[in-house]
Amino acid sequence: MKISDYPFTQEAAEAVRSRNISLDSLLDKSLFQSVRSRAAERLRGAVGGEAIPDGRASSESEQLFELLSYPLARVMVSCLNDPILLRRYALAEAKLAFRRMQHEKEGLVVLANDLGINPQGQGPWKIHFSEYIRAAHRMHSPKWKLTNRDLSEGYLTVTDVELRRLLEEAIREKVLKGLPVSVDERICQGLEEYLAPVKRDLEALAAKQKIDLGEVKEGAFPPCIKKMLSEVSKGANLAHSARFALVSFLLQINMTPDEVIALFATSPDFDQDRTRYQVEHIAGATGTRYKPPACATMATYGNCPGEDDLCRRIRHPLSYYERRSIMLKPGAISSAKEGQT
Ligand code: SF4
Repeated sequence: MKISDYPFTQEAAEAVRSRNISLDSLLDKSLFQSVRSRAAERLRGAVGGEAIPDGRASSESEQLFELLSYPLARVMVSCLNDPILLRRYALAEAKLAFRRMQHEKEGLVVLANDLGINPQGQGPWKIHFSEYIRAAHRMHSPKWKLTNRDLSEGYLTVTDVELRRLLEEAIREKVLKGLPVSVDERICQGLEEYLAPVKRDLEALAAKQKIDLGEVKEGAFPPCIKKMLSEVSKGANLAHSARFALVSFLLQINMTPDEVIALFATSPDFDQDRTRYQVEHIAGATGTRYKPPACATMATYGNCPGEDDLCRRIRHPLSYYERRSIMLKPGAISSAKEGQT
C-alpha cells in the first residue's frame, strides 16, 4: 500500500510530521508550488461534484508532494468554511481513495485496520457487527441494514466489493471529522490566489441551485408548511416524509442550512450532527439539491392538512409560496383593485 494514495491514514500523518515541513514553507517556497496546485485541485474537483484527478505519484518526491497536498487541502477547505464544500470535499476524497483501493490486495486489510475495521478471512470477509455499524450507519439502502445481514456470534459477512464500499464510507467520515480546522487569517490570505477560483466555483454553484424567491416571507407559507413548523415549534417529532418536505421547502426559499438546523433544535430527538448531515444532504452536499414533493405526493403521505382557496389553483407548495409572496408585496392589492376599475 502506497501511503501517498491514502493521505488521511495515521501512517501518512506520521510521515508528514516526520518531515517537519512548516505550513509557512508550504505556502512560500517555490519548491512547493506543485503541492499548492495539487491541494487546490483536490478542492475544485470536490466543488464540481467531480472526481479528484488521480495524480498517481511514482517518484519519491511526487509521493511526498501528493502526501503534503492533503493537509494543505484541509487548510484551504477550512479557510473557505462552507458547509456544502466541506461535505463535498470529504466525499471526493473518499471517492478518490475508493478508486485507488481497486488495485489493493493485502493493502486493503492494512487500510481497513487504520480505519478501525478488522476484516478477517480472505474475502468474503467477516467483520464484527460493532465495526460494521460504525461504518454503515449512514448507508440507507436496505441491504446495509443489520437485520438484512447474516449475523452470527457477533460477526457478519461482507463481500470484497462491500468491504471497499464500507471503507469508502469510513474514509468520508474520517476526512470530515475535525473540519474545519482552525486557521490563522494570515494563512488564508496567503492562499488567496488558490482560493479565489474555488470561491467563484462555489458562488456559481449556489446561483445555479437557488430559486430566486426573494426574502423568506412567513405569511406566504402554504398551510402544510405552517402546520409542520407549528409542530416543530411545539417540540413534536415529524414523520420522515414531513421532515423532508419541510427542510427541502425552506432550503428552496433560500434559508441557509444553519437556519433550518436551528428550527429543529427543540425536537426531542435533536442530534446536531445527524440533523446537519440530513439538511446538508437535502441542500445538495452530495450533488443533488432536492425539491419538496408536489401537492399530490404530500397528500398521499398525509402531509396536506387541507386546501385553502389558493391551494386549489396550484400543484406545488413552492408555487403557493411564490404566488402568495406576490400578493403580499406592498401595493399589490391596491394595484389589483386599480386594475379592476
Ligand atoms: S394543497 Fe399543496 S400547498 Fe396546499 S396545503 Fe396541501 S400540500 Fe400544501
